[in-house]
Amino acid sequence: MKGEKYLFVVSGPSGTGKDTVVARLLKDHPEIQHTVSATTRAPREGEKNGINYHFMSVADFEDHLAQDQIVEHTQYCGNYYGTLRSEIERRMAQGIPVILVIEVEGAGNIKRLYPGATTVFVLPPDMQELERRLRNRGTESEDTVQRRLKRAQEEIAHSVEYDEHVVNDQVEACAEALYSIIQSRLQHGQDA
Ligand code: ADP
Ligand code: 5GP
Repeated sequence: MKGEKYLFVVSGPSGTGKDTVVARLLKDHPEIQHTVSATTRAPREGEKNGINYHFMSVADFEDHLAQDQIVEHTQYCGNYYGTLRSEIERRMAQGIPVILVIEVEGAGNIKRLYPGATTVFVLPPDMQELERRLRNRGTESEDTVQRRLKRAQEEIAHSVEYDEHVVNDQVEACAEALYSIIQSRLQHGQDA
């Protein structure tokens, strides 16, 4: 589909700093946008509907699925997450670079649907630091921390399937590494 090269998929284990790095990138480069996914998980403190996610009930999410308004979705640690068609297709058509911060299964599905998209995996410096960041964020119960750390191992095993890899040691350096990847793909990427 035309405009696939404008799609950038970012994945990485929970707590690795994806949202922090992408927020920094968008602040420095406002011509880049990001998608707002739909989810059935409860909002964390400070999260806003329509900004962090479109928060939905399970029934509402399933309704969107039935109406083909969600291009890919998955269940992650007991909740639905999905990318709304409306969040990506307009931007692809208009040539606006857009970032999807989604987990590995969704990334694979986006790459199958839009082979011209670029997938980037964000790695933590090491597993101890990942656990420290996840705990320091202070948003998850102990049970959820454990589930997310277990899932992290599985996700890192899939990192070889990604087009590009960056390590989030320092936020600013990682955001600039991501920006270099985007610049390079926009200049050289194939567009259907
Ligand atoms: P993710 O989106 O991957 O789940 P977050 O962006 O929420 O991760 O970051 C998890 C925690 O780690 C947050 O408290 C954030 O402030 C912190 N963090 C992110 N990047 C770094 C970094 N490079 N160094 C230290 N702490 C970081
Ligand atoms: P969190 O609950 O920490 O916000 O997100 C949990 C995981 O779901 C993260 O890896 C995040 O990137 C992923 N995620 C968020 N939105 C989507 C989406 O629309 N689709 C898929 N497949 N994963 C998503």
